[in-house]
Amino acid sequence: MNEGNLTPRPLDEIYDQDESTAALMPPLLPDLSFKSIWDSDMIEKFYDPSGRKKWRCMHCNESWFEYNATKALSHVVGTGRDIGACKGSIANKYRQAYNELYVSKNGSRELKQQFQAKIQQDWDSTDGRTLAYYSEAKSAGKDQFPVLRLI
Ligand SMILES: [Zn+2]
Repeated sequence: MNEGNLTPRPLDEIYDQDESTAALMPPLLPDLSFKSIWDSDMIEKFYDPSGRKKWRCMHCNESWFEYNATKALSHVVGTGRDIGACKGSIANKYRQAYNELYVSKNGSRELKQQFQAKIQQDWDSTDGRTLAYYSEAKSAGKDQFPVLRLI
């Protein structure tokens, strides 16, 4: 007879289990930073069966001939003149890294501002609201968020 299995488990054991479940949550990915568009793990260089150089954008799964870093970057940033803008869904993390790379390659101050504005537009509305709220508080000369008052 094994009564051990019927004994209710102590609370701390249950809490331990909750913690191990939390450990299974996906870890936060580090911020991305590329020195070249080819550094992105979503941009893949390969050769086609006849040995020609090709690269593929794994955001949209389209591929092009020849390794042209300017074109590849233009594609993901969406500024391409002779290459279409990426129609895939690019995670903000990648989008920001591409935009930063684009600015570092082409960076004038105006362009930088233009892209920062674009990045802000790409954020979801919650982030946008939070940011607007924070910069309002900042520009009002307050170091902290306004305190809610009970009326
Ligand atoms: Zn693409």
